[in-house]
Amino acid sequence: MHQQQQPRGRWRIGLTLTALVPSALGVGLVRPGPSAPVLEAAPYVVVLGIAQDGGVPQAGAKPQSGSSSDELERHVVSLGVIDPETTERWLIEATPDFPAQLRALDRIAAAPGTPGLRGIFLTHAHMGHYTGLMHLGHEAIGARQVPVYAMPQMAEYLRTNGPWSQLVRLENIVIHPLRDGTSVRLNRRLSVTPLLVPHRQEFSEVVGFRIEGPAKAVLFVPDIDRWDQWDRHGRSLEAELARVDVAYLDGTFFADREVGGRDMSAFPHPFITTTMERLRSLPAEERAKVRFIHLNHSNPALRPGSDARRAIEAAGFRVAEELERVYLGE
Ligand SMILES: [Zn+2]
Ligand SMILES: [Zn+2]
Repeated sequence: MHQQQQPRGRWRIGLTLTALVPSALGVGLVRPGPSAPVLEAAPYVVVLGIAQDGGVPQAGAKPQSGSSSDELERHVVSLGVIDPETTERWLIEATPDFPAQLRALDRIAAAPGTPGLRGIFLTHAHMGHYTGLMHLGHEAIGARQVPVYAMPQMAEYLRTNGPWSQLVRLENIVIHPLRDGTSVRLNRRLSVTPLLVPHRQEFSEVVGFRIEGPAKAVLFVPDIDRWDQWDRHGRSLEAELARVDVAYLDGTFFADREVGGRDMSAFPHPFITTTMERLRSLPAEERAKVRFIHLNHSNPALRPGSDARRAIEAAGFRVAEELERVYLGE
């Protein structure tokens, strides 16, 4: 019960703030005159979840004593891409929190039809990133031909394993193949490009995405084993960072020993401390692009005001916030 109610309350608070800010500040954010419609109509990315696959709190977490409002809750990692001019919407990842995230998207930018998505882009076949597709099946929405963009092994995995194969057979979803480095044009103003990344390839290859609008671009790499392995694949974090304005990067763990005091050096994620060390000598404006996402329930940086969060901010980086937006227009 508690689990059902808390996220709704949290979304409502977040959305109220989002809704209030422009009217409260008026001229500050939405300038009057000819430029206002341009800003209003710019396509944008909205963060719908910042947690690692298991969410926050993770299943099995014991309720804390004291006030339940102290309990931190975050949805599994996902982005929405919205073009207000055409009322088109896309989802990056289909997470176990798909129902709440689709509802959030409906509140932010309503679109005709259900689920009202022009497409869903999937990074890989780990549970937090694709299992929300089940809600498109006939037990739930019974969607019609929602385009699902996936790399070849990921596409094959969905076609050949139940229950996903049923979504394909009944045409709840239609799979569109992706190719590494090849952009998919979403509409006149938006495109998405998959970038292969080294990460435990258990059921599928793994990609990140670059989302490009008319003037700005966002990088999304929620899961990667190590940045230096990306170097060996011929792509560097620094070069990819230089091509975008905001980068949502794997921030699963803050530092070693955060999970039960164990040696985590073999865990397939760079620690936030490792990523910060690597990028330490970059100019401040490059570091300011980085927003850590995909935080594990153990990550102390989930808590605003924690030492970990302060260390990240002092070094010129940020932690992604749910419902924050990045406008891709001028
Ligand atoms: Zn993940
Ligand atoms: Zn993964």
